[in-house]
Formats: sequence, C-alpha cells, structure tokens
Amino acid sequence: MASSPRWNGPQRRIGLTGGIASGKSTVARWLAEQGLPVLDADVYAREALAPGSATALAVLQRYGEAVQAEGSVPSAGVLDRGALGRIVFDDPLERQWLERLVHPLVRDRFETALANLAGAPTVVLVIPLLFEAGLEALCSEIWLVDCEPAQQLQRLMARDELSPEAAEARINAQWPLERKRPMADWVIDNRSATSDLPSQLTAQLRPSTPT
Ligand code: ADP
Repeated sequence: MASSPRWNGPQRRIGLTGGIASGKSTVARWLAEQGLPVLDADVYAREALAPGSATALAVLQRYGEAVQAEGSVPSAGVLDRGALGRIVFDDPLERQWLERLVHPLVRDRFETALANLAGAPTVVLVIPLLFEAGLEALCSEIWLVDCEPAQQLQRLMARDELSPEAAEARINAQWPLERKRPMADWVIDNRSATSDLPSQLTAQLRPSTPT
C-alpha cells in the first residue's frame, strides 16, 4: 500500500502516472472531456526546453551540433528533440543531467498552475515520473495506468514509430510498472480495449478520498 505522504489540502489532486505508453494520455483525455482541469508534466517539460530558453541553450552548450535543429543557428537555441532523446535514453548519466535541469522548472509550473486553479474542486496532474522524481506530496491521491510489459512495448513502438531496441531503452529509463503498482492508491487496468476505461474511471471519480 502507498506509504509516502500525500497532499492534504482542501482540493482533490489526482496524480496520474504509469509507464511510457501505458495509457496516461488516453486516460487524461477522458478526464478532460469530463471537464476536469488537466496539468501535464510532459507539456511543461517541452515548454522548459522551448526555443531560445536558457535551458535549451544549456543543452546546446553541452551537446553541440548533435542536438541542434537542422537549419538553425546555435544562438537561436532550437533543439532537435529526437537527437536529444537518443542521447539521454542511451546514457543514464546524461538523462540525470537533463532531468536535474528540467525537473525544477516543471515543478515550478505545477505550483503556478495549481495556484491559478485553487478554486477548482478537482485537478488532474499527469506526471510520468511521479514516483521516480518523488512528487507524491503534490497529489492527494495517485492513480497508476497499468498494462502488461509486452503491450507497453507494442503501443510505444506503434505510437512513436520506434525500433524494439529504442522502445526498450525508453521503457527501461523508467521504473517498471511492477515496482510502481504497490505505490499507487488505485491501479487503472488498461489491458483491454480503451472502451473499458470509462466505467473504471467513473467509479473512481465518485469518492472524494482514495480507497
Ligand atoms: P502514455 O500517455 O502513457 O505514454 P498513451 O495514452 O499515449 O500512453 O497510449 C500509448 C499508445 O497506446 C497510444 O497510441 C494509444 O492510442 C494506445 N492505447 C492506449 N490505451 C490502449 C488500449 N487500452 N488498447 C490499445 N491501445 C491503447
């Protein structure tokens, strides 16, 4: 059962996590369709590396032309995100370097967005690396979108047009779902068709406290 502290304020803050391609965005889309505000760490991480940002320039300084978008000049600070992905998913130390740069900015954006949404009764926070980054205390409850490892690999390869090796490198850069399962307050089973999700999600949205 979950042991680390959760956010304990008056707002319901649902942390949505899982593994890459386990179905977080699919679930988040459905929750947004129900009218819930959805904050997404991936969006914030992309914004943190926006063209010309200090972060993008720091990345260019470290890796040089290898991560510079084709046709751009270094001073413009435009990244080739695919090239950056290949570097960091192949090398844990480089990944750690990039995460140290980007995670504090993502966290700041969550804090700002949450302050702006203080009046909303429920907010959804999509955080792929929620457990890895120790962000449990941002959420009042944590939902894990779960599937089988083979499904995760297939879905990732299909969605991002990756080779099995590249997809595995991305999956192995995160904790396995098996490790995350006991840390969540509720596990969403996304092994079957996505049409199965609404009944699970509707049931879980009803109570205001996690089981
Ligand atoms: P995440 O946000 O966790 O990375 P996505 O929601 O993007 O994952 O899902 C990964 C891919 O798998 C997407 O192409 C999505 O359409 C597909 N997918 C999600 N859930 C299912 C499911 N239950 N059955 C089949 N494909 C699914």
